[in-house]
Amino acid sequence: MARNTGPVCRLCRRENMKLYLKGDRCYSDKCALERRSYPPGQHGQRRGKLSNYGLQLREKQKIKRIYGLQEKQYKNYFKEADRQKGVTGTNFLVLLERRLDNTVYRLGFANSRSQARQMVRHNHFLVNGRKVNIPSYLLQPGDVVAVREKSRQIGAITEALDAVPRRGVPAWLELDKEKFQGVFRSIPTREEMNLPVQEQLVVEFYSK
Ligand code: SF4
Repeated sequence: MARNTGPVCRLCRRENMKLYLKGDRCYSDKCALERRSYPPGQHGQRRGKLSNYGLQLREKQKIKRIYGLQEKQYKNYFKEADRQKGVTGTNFLVLLERRLDNTVYRLGFANSRSQARQMVRHNHFLVNGRKVNIPSYLLQPGDVVAVREKSRQIGAITEALDAVPRRGVPAWLELDKEKFQGVFRSIPTREEMNLPVQEQLVVEFYSK
């Protein structure tokens, strides 16, 4: 699958918001956004007011970059959210949060979503006791995500778990650090997701 291999801090500077794409560095004073809080590029400091379309586009890009998705896959999530009952914007975020790679990151087994995706692909996780290596696998309430026995010594996983007290675990998940496993307890509410994004603008963008 295609993926962004360019400098990711530029993406945060472009969106003028911490997207937490680089693990520990994002929490330190080395964060590029803290050092240069203006968009990248020659004219980065001179950009003016955004149009309505510009605002919608930026919000769409922001969420896409947080979850590290490609446009086609991202749009498919939107179509699925639109088909479901309820508020399309919330459905959309819930679908993104239910992904296995995102849950591995949220539980604290990885320092970033891209690291979580790679770990899932490399067969380090079980879902309900069965090996799953599909990052987009959608979890259901009650599913148990565990690190495979032979992967529990991996430095990246133990280091990420050490950072859990600082990052916290969201309300819809439950982590058992000793057992290297977590439970996807329930479908998150919009308040629980606590994401500083305006998903309604994405709905407006795709509804044109
Ligand atoms: Fe974004 Fe993290 Fe880079 Fe800061 S360090 S700009 S939060 S990716």
